[in-house]
Amino acid sequence: MASFIKDLAKKEILVPHINNYLAQADFPKTFDIAIPTHKEPDDAFHPSGDCTPCECELYAKFTGVSEKQELTATSHKNFFVGHFWHGLLQDILCDRLGFCEKDDVEKELRFQDPKWWARGFADIAKCDIPGKGSYLIDFKTMNTFSYQKPNENLLAKWRLQVACYMAWDNRVESAIIIGIQKDTPHEFKEFVFQRDDSILEPIYEKWTNVSNAIKNETQVVCSKCT
Ligand SMILES: [Zn+2]
Repeated sequence: MASFIKDLAKKEILVPHINNYLAQADFPKTFDIAIPTHKEPDDAFHPSGDCTPCECELYAKFTGVSEKQELTATSHKNFFVGHFWHGLLQDILCDRLGFCEKDDVEKELRFQDPKWWARGFADIAKCDIPGKGSYLIDFKTMNTFSYQKPNENLLAKWRLQVACYMAWDNRVESAIIIGIQKDTPHEFKEFVFQRDDSILEPIYEKWTNVSNAIKNETQVVCSKCT
């Protein structure tokens, strides 16, 4: 094996544990995985999708001006596949490997500003990996194209999402996003992010601007489009 490949393999933190567990095939009789079908709506900002859109895009989304994404059979298939992987990996890490507490799975994290609120659900808010320390974990199912070459915008979006979670939960200094290849051979890839609360300031400022514009029914001032 070329030495750089060995180095890459050595750098993996969590994936080897998951793959070793699967390779050993010492499974429970069934994995009982919940596939949720509904998301309760709220008026909060969400780290998963509201960090990178500009003020106008957020304003349009929150005032219902932008067209609602139509849900098709395909989008439901995608949601279900995503939930399957989340459920299986959360079960393995929590119940089989014992790396995390049940309370830290799908953990709701909130931030309250005087004028708005934000919330999200961390896939695993704190995962204790033997010899490696504690990490926040998030899973992302990806098509092979994106899996092989995730673009800068996607990485920037993920970085902000986990930065919110780490700041709000305030127990870990690093996060791992596990990229899951949706089609066979279903490989896993790690993206590691260090906690950096300073990158959240412009996000909070943006959310404040949007929230003010909505409340005052004024035109939103966009830092990107004007
Ligand atoms: Zn804009």
